[in-house]
Amino acid sequence: MTKTEALLHRIYEAEEPDRADIEYLLSRESPGEMSMIFHFADEVRREYSGEGILLRGIVEFSSYCVNTCAYCGLNRNNILLPRYRLSQDEILESITQMSALGIKTVVLQSGEDYCMEAVLLKETIEAVKERFDVAVTLSVGERSVQDYALWRQAGAERYLLKIETTDQSLYESLHQGMSFQHRIDCLRTLQSLGFQTGSGTIIGLKGQTLAMIAGDIVFFKKNKFDMLGIGPFIPHPVTELAKEPCGDVNLTLKVLALTRIVTKNAHLPATTALGSIGERDFKIDGLCAGANVVMLNFTPRKYAQLYEIYPGKGNHDGLTASYRSYLRRLSDATGRPFDLSRGDSLVQSR
Ligand code: SAM
Repeated sequence: MTKTEALLHRIYEAEEPDRADIEYLLSRESPGEMSMIFHFADEVRREYSGEGILLRGIVEFSSYCVNTCAYCGLNRNNILLPRYRLSQDEILESITQMSALGIKTVVLQSGEDYCMEAVLLKETIEAVKERFDVAVTLSVGERSVQDYALWRQAGAERYLLKIETTDQSLYESLHQGMSFQHRIDCLRTLQSLGFQTGSGTIIGLKGQTLAMIAGDIVFFKKNKFDMLGIGPFIPHPVTELAKEPCGDVNLTLKVLALTRIVTKNAHLPATTALGSIGERDFKIDGLCAGANVVMLNFTPRKYAQLYEIYPGKGNHDGLTASYRSYLRRLSDATGRPFDLSRGDSLVQSR
């Protein structure tokens, strides 16, 4: 058995995987070793999540943001970006389109928009629950315990809040005015309120090392997240990191694969960023390296272009027929069917 094979087995079996083992595996760059890592992850995905690819639909309902994240095109210093906020009717119309495809999870995402009062989002969650048989996932950033509790009571089942990086000093250098500890506290609050909780990271941030990324994967395992989104950094031209290179696709795929191997049954999307980074759709590669979820965008077309986290993201035509043919292509390329169940968490013990 080679060292790579031995370490793959060791991190798979370990209750507390060793950070140095993960770092070694992340550093493997030969095609043979990388495909060994992807293949191992694909087997673990098959064993713990099955063959079905879960579908989620995202509605990006507000692009207003108070934060200044150094990598994100929505940051408040981007004064060139026209901002929008959807009405409740527009959100419900988007979910109607999503439901027509049989999708049973809506992700309501926005920048950190404090003009969107907690009670307004609560009313929207209630309206969604009344009209549609869907799980509601929120992704609206850091809010108070009271806001989170209000939304949970209104029926939202899931929440996504990426840690972005678990290295505190890197985190704080990229998120001026924000606190790493506060983000961790928010994640703990969400878990304690009974949300199926998702986190995740960006791969290829300026100053990020393999040792830090290995630490991220150990953090994922320790915290038993229900969902983990891992995507490459894509530079946005109106941010501090405009001149930095894109995150490496192979490294992103290795992080995804090793996350699958250590967390086993977390839901892992083949992220939109993986589909937006290159000349071809690397979501397919993600699905073959441990991912089991795909997210489609149902933000109304005229607004989707304005939710410009990074360039190239808004390129969707939002038409049901073209989504059907896109899904057929993904299914043909992976040889796996789509799963139209709600896709609740598979993580049992917390
Ligand atoms: N405001 C919410 C929050 O902070 O969780 C959700 C919206 S935020 C725009 C969604 C995600 O976009 C972030 O968690 C981050 O990982 C990702 N993102 C932003 N800019 C990016 C970039 N340039 N490259 C890759 N991912 C990016």
